[in-house]
Amino acid sequence: MPELAEVAFYAKAWHPAQGQTILRVHTGPKPRFFRHTPAAAFAPALTGRSFLDTRTHGKKLLFAFQNNLWLTGHLGMTGELLLAPPDHLPTAHDHLVLYTAHHALIFRDSRMFGAVLLDESPGPPPAWQALPPEILSPQFTAAHAAAALQRHPRSPLKAFLLDQTYFPGIGNWMADEVLFQLRLHPATLAASVNPSALRQALRTICQKSLQTIAVNWSDPPKNWLMTHRWKAGGLCPRCHTPLLRDTLRGRTACWCPTCQPQSPP
Ligand SMILES: [Zn+2]
Repeated sequence: MPELAEVAFYAKAWHPAQGQTILRVHTGPKPRFFRHTPAAAFAPALTGRSFLDTRTHGKKLLFAFQNNLWLTGHLGMTGELLLAPPDHLPTAHDHLVLYTAHHALIFRDSRMFGAVLLDESPGPPPAWQALPPEILSPQFTAAHAAAALQRHPRSPLKAFLLDQTYFPGIGNWMADEVLFQLRLHPATLAASVNPSALRQALRTICQKSLQTIAVNWSDPPKNWLMTHRWKAGGLCPRCHTPLLRDTLRGRTACWCPTCQPQSPP
């Protein structure tokens, strides 16, 4: 599932078409993808407008078009943004394709957990402006992290880190990476976590993944859990203990039982 850095990687896909006018629009037949804005609304709204820019906020995407038109979206579990030549023929999973004279801008999603939403407003849509502080923003202070932890003191940290209200962009592997770097077991209660250490780990992991994955899908540092967790028989990069995996609330958690022992009850 795309997390902060993967979303930032996909967000660049349409950049070569910046300033180009949308000449025609293809929408696929699946209503589920158009659950927020009906498919029929896209062609009349977008045709004839220039594509201006893409922004991200955590896992969310915002596309700006000429004359105050905005497309908000997210990639769900399997969504991707692609750029193709203008003679591109839509596949079954291409739910939205915007054609310019030089490109086809494609939103592809095989499982349709992704979605898009059209808005017209003088600035970014109100819902976008109301999003919580991003982890790398100046507003994401240690006090902000402390307040979040205090609101959910009994939450296991792994589950809590997946809450986009507090940690926009953090998904399964990034949450496991935070726990690994803080040497905390996934079941550690939020109340016992040091907010400054949590903020610092989150910031480091966001920055490094934006410098690697988001640029060209290259690997983050070798001493991260991330580069070992997918391998069968993966070993902890610090102490070489075999990594443990378990399903917590439907998500696979991965951790090192030596570096991240469960604290006594
Ligand atoms: Zn270890």
